Amino acid sequence: MLVKKTIKESNTGLAQGGIAAAVHEEDSPFLHLEDTLEAGAGLCNIEAVDVLVREGPERVRELISAGARFDMKNGTVSLAREGAHSRPRILHAADATGEAIRSALVEKCEQNPDIQILSDHFLIDILGREQDPECYGALVYDARHDQKVVFTARATILATGGAGQLYKYTTNPSVATADGMAAAFRAGCRLTDLEFIQFHPTVLFTSETQRFLISEAVRGEGGRLYNTKGEAFMANYHPLKELAPRDVVSRAIVSETRRTNSEYVWLDMTHIPNVKERFPTIYLNCLQRGINITRELVPVFPAAHYTMGGIETNTYGETGLPGLYACGETACTGVHGANRLASNSLLEGIVFGQRIVDKAEEILYRRRVSLSELCRHFEQSEVFKPQAKGLAPQEVRLQLQETMWENVGILRDEPHLRKAAQVVSELYNQVERGDDVLAYYEVINMLTVARVIIQAALWRTESRGGHFRTDYPQRDDLRWIRHISFVNC
Ligand SMILES: Cc1cc2nc3c(=O)[nH]c(=O)nc-3n(C[C@H](O)[C@H](O)[C@H](O)COP(=O)(O)OP(=O)(O)OC[C@H]3O[C@@H](n4cnc5c(N)ncnc54)[C@H](O)[C@@H]3O)c2cc1C
Repeated sequence: MLVKKTIKESNTGLAQGGIAAAVHEEDSPFLHLEDTLEAGAGLCNIEAVDVLVREGPERVRELISAGARFDMKNGTVSLAREGAHSRPRILHAADATGEAIRSALVEKCEQNPDIQILSDHFLIDILGREQDPECYGALVYDARHDQKVVFTARATILATGGAGQLYKYTTNPSVATADGMAAAFRAGCRLTDLEFIQFHPTVLFTSETQRFLISEAVRGEGGRLYNTKGEAFMANYHPLKELAPRDVVSRAIVSETRRTNSEYVWLDMTHIPNVKERFPTIYLNCLQRGINITRELVPVFPAAHYTMGGIETNTYGETGLPGLYACGETACTGVHGANRLASNSLLEGIVFGQRIVDKAEEILYRRRVSLSELCRHFEQSEVFKPQAKGLAPQEVRLQLQETMWENVGILRDEPHLRKAAQVVSELYNQVERGDDVLAYYEVINMLTVARVIIQAALWRTESRGGHFRTDYPQRDDLRWIRHISFVNC
């Protein structure tokens, strides 16, 4: 298992609210399926959603056996309700569910002598041969020894997470730079549904760019939103008020801040019983920034949170390139459609992860190709683009993030998208390699995926889920019940 920094740095470890599964007797996979399809705004792959909701409960039980400790109530697992779920079905470990899952799984891996975890190993590209499009492993940059290393493998699984870092303000850590998507794209895989980016509505408004999330579960427990004039506003936007879909709440917040000429709105959780005990991580993180959530309102504004699209896969995680699989946020299994239902992504990781392992076993007897057979010319790849003097990768990253935030964010229109396309293209031609190789590889990947997001957002002349066009504000089912996919040619 290769990770580009430490095994701790990931979206998974930051997940707060929980993991959804129909484990209660009054719930059912069918109800979970209905809610997921409703959130996905007409673009979910029903077969994939069916797999998710039917296999989810069993995978969650295995997770508990593997050591993930979820909160209990009266001797059974405690289930929370989140926005757009018709039943309470969110298993949680206070407000640090992701870390409970991550640490349990990492401990299992560390106890297994057959698994080796290598930190500071950065996936650069997929290894293939010119004559047959198959994956034979990966070209990796070992940052500790400042050298490129080749890993040959019969089955390679990309689980490299999302693309939140493409945006100036995000809940994602610095490692979420879409590397797996870009590498798979260069290797000939399809990138699908990338115009759909979820902006989480309630993210702590601070001067930081990686911002702290205030979980949806807070609104599930009764948290209320007010504009800076002290007016509760969500009833003006949706009958479900604070529990409306994330995209609706995010746009409502943008609209209110514009109306009141402010940079944020307030989230009130002072009235939530035992708020400190129920949300200890949120309590501590806000306190560190001088806000006591038991007594004070919290300033919030949306930030980029989740990438619905990614490397297109079938329900076995197969990418179409034999030997290469993708899983988790980097993949597009189709379960999220145009908008992810809260707490479905942790579930997606464990459900499709298991299916990949089952499938990959089939090909473990595949021929392992010797190094000398791997004659792909990496120097022709984008990541090896020679560049004399230009802009430093770190500078390009900042400009890209600013451009994406300003032009490809919560509200989009053609002039802004065209402007973004032009800037990204210019940045792509200006970036220099510099001394920080990792920063260079990352920014090339970010630019590669940014181009796809922008082009898809330009083409989709309607509004749906995580893609809102102010120049095409309606959902257009006649023309747009379809996916936009890109292949590198
Ligand atoms: C703040 C926050 C809260 C969330 N809350 C919830 C929630 O309550 N419920 C829910 O279901 N979902 C939640 N999500 C979403 C969910 O956490 C993620 O979608 C999910 O954990 C993604 O898992 P993953 O394994 O695909 O990616 P990650 O957990 O992000 O793991 C990706 C790994 O790949 C490594 N990597 C990346 N690029 C490379 C490379 N080039 N070479 C080598 N390694 C690389 C990274 O270092 C990292 O270790 C939340 C996300 C965030 C950010």
